[in-house]
Amino acid sequence: MLLEIKGLLSTIDILDICDIIIVAVILYKLYELLNNTRAITLVKGIMVLLVLTMVSDWLGLHVIYWLLQKTVTLLFVALPIVFQPELRRALEHIGQGRLFVRTSLLNIQEARSLVSEIESAVTRMSQKKIGALIVIEREMGLDDISSNGIFIDGIVSSELLMNIFIPNTPLHDGATIIRGKKIIASACLLPLTDDRTLSTELGTRHRAAIGLSEQCDAVVVVVSEETGTISVAEHGRIYRHLDSEQLKQYLIPLFAQKSSAVRDFIRNWRQGTK
Ligand code: ATP
Ligand code: MG
Repeated sequence: MLLEIKGLLSTIDILDICDIIIVAVILYKLYELLNNTRAITLVKGIMVLLVLTMVSDWLGLHVIYWLLQKTVTLLFVALPIVFQPELRRALEHIGQGRLFVRTSLLNIQEARSLVSEIESAVTRMSQKKIGALIVIEREMGLDDISSNGIFIDGIVSSELLMNIFIPNTPLHDGATIIRGKKIIASACLLPLTDDRTLSTELGTRHRAAIGLSEQCDAVVVVVSEETGTISVAEHGRIYRHLDSEQLKQYLIPLFAQKSSAVRDFIRNWRQGTK
């Protein structure tokens, strides 16, 4: 046994190791991309079916094996049809070369001040019952969505956000997209969810927020024009009736780098040497 392992190890060269590392990174990135989307439950289901197929083959259960094999084949044909929007987005990401790109995160002070601008605009719009739809881009790029709106490229401030959503102005209709510290576009059209289990209270603004969050990792903040309610949609779920403090706590981690003792030390040291 030991000799066999030694023999096997001696045949592995540096290229094989690179090969394995690249495949592992790609699989991990794919998992990250799918994690928390509705596709991941399906992937898990397919894994279970594949394992059952192998077990039934191994146990010699021919009829079950035949049935499972046919089901798996059928599933692979049905998948691209059912998951057409997700697949399209995934391919677009690869095309944009953004699969491995992370929107640069801010230090905690910057993140807090950015979030307080958003929170202050959202709270004021909620009090005045001004409808708003604010998308916060995360790892998955939203260039395809922002390109159907109006290009802005302005630093996020509560005044700018409020101005965008004032009723009967050209930019108020549709969604505004934030990437890091900047508003990149407004009046963008988002995909609507086709979830039929949602409450009938939720109209197209809320359905658009949920729809986008089903297809990517963006977080969408909604202010209802009818009730002033603040909601957040993420991974196809909507969290409603948030107050401004809850909204802040929700948003800060989206913009902030995870605290690291080494990074904090370097930052303090740099500030000390200035
Ligand atoms: P509210 O509680 O504010 O009334 P709602 O969920 O009931 O929200 P509607 O009343 O249908 O939704 O809101 C319509 C507004 O939502 C539109 O004027 C537009 O600004 C926005 N909206 C609707 N669909 C989309 C979409 N697909 N993408 C972006 N924005 C959308
Ligand atoms: Mg409505």
